[in-house]
Amino acid sequence: MKFSQINLSGQNSALAQRRAAKCWIKTAGAAICLLSFLLIPPAWADGVSVGKASRLRNLVPAAELEQSAVAEYEQIKKQAGLKGELLPDNHPQVVRLRAIAARIIPVADRFNSRAGGWPWEVILLKSPQINAFCMPGGKIAFYTGILDTLKLTDDEAAMVMGHEIAHALREHARARIAKGQLTQLGAGILGGLLGGGHYTDALQLGGNLLSLKFSRSDETDADIVGLDLIARAAFDPRAGVTLWKKMTEANKRSPLELLSTHPAGENRVKEIQKNLPQVMPVYQAALKARQGTAMSKR
Ligand SMILES: [Zn+2]
Repeated sequence: MKFSQINLSGQNSALAQRRAAKCWIKTAGAAICLLSFLLIPPAWADGVSVGKASRLRNLVPAAELEQSAVAEYEQIKKQAGLKGELLPDNHPQVVRLRAIAARIIPVADRFNSRAGGWPWEVILLKSPQINAFCMPGGKIAFYTGILDTLKLTDDEAAMVMGHEIAHALREHARARIAKGQLTQLGAGILGGLLGGGHYTDALQLGGNLLSLKFSRSDETDADIVGLDLIARAAFDPRAGVTLWKKMTEANKRSPLELLSTHPAGENRVKEIQKNLPQVMPVYQAALKARQGTAMSKR
């Protein structure tokens, strides 16, 4: 009752006591609020911390871009189907990739609140390309080349998927398109765009999301967010290191398609290693929870 005693100095009437009691309740409430704020860690207190996604991306409407991605993905599926390159739902590698995705998708909304409503899908295309992608809106594809040539373990395949999903969650394509359009529109109307977004209609969504080239900072961002995603899904984030070592080796033999749209910096593995201490405890907790669930099902 220290707060009320301070407020009560020199006053002993019932009214003053009631006022003091109210005041104490308010103060105690505020203290509890503050305490709970201190006790409950903010969303970024565990796992990795990344900056906010580029504000420029807001120039391109997310819903329209996601629709455009769905149309492009359907086109890819249709063409692959006609050529007999779309592997069936019961193909063991399709089953495996979908099982990996089913563990990552539930933790995705941590990085993008729209992700819960995305029409997620995973396909496997028969092609020697060492490549994979996740389009805006959660449309994922792997090429058999990446699984076969690199002989990816489940953890490494999860890392590829986590990285690609991270590009979609962090809306790197949306930001790239906005930047590309701005360059085309010219500096003259840049002020207008940034000022009030009056020229948004002039922006076009392109139509070939697959050819979009990410920047090195997008890559680092996707690596870090990808690590966090897979750790939460109980996949070993150390697979990030072995995966990129395999990629680098394969790239020496012949240039990888994936690296042409995902430029890798020399420090990629070092960046991943630097972030492992943040995600290892998340992975260990997720693994424990997963093992506990498996035990209780027996
Ligand atoms: Zn990438």
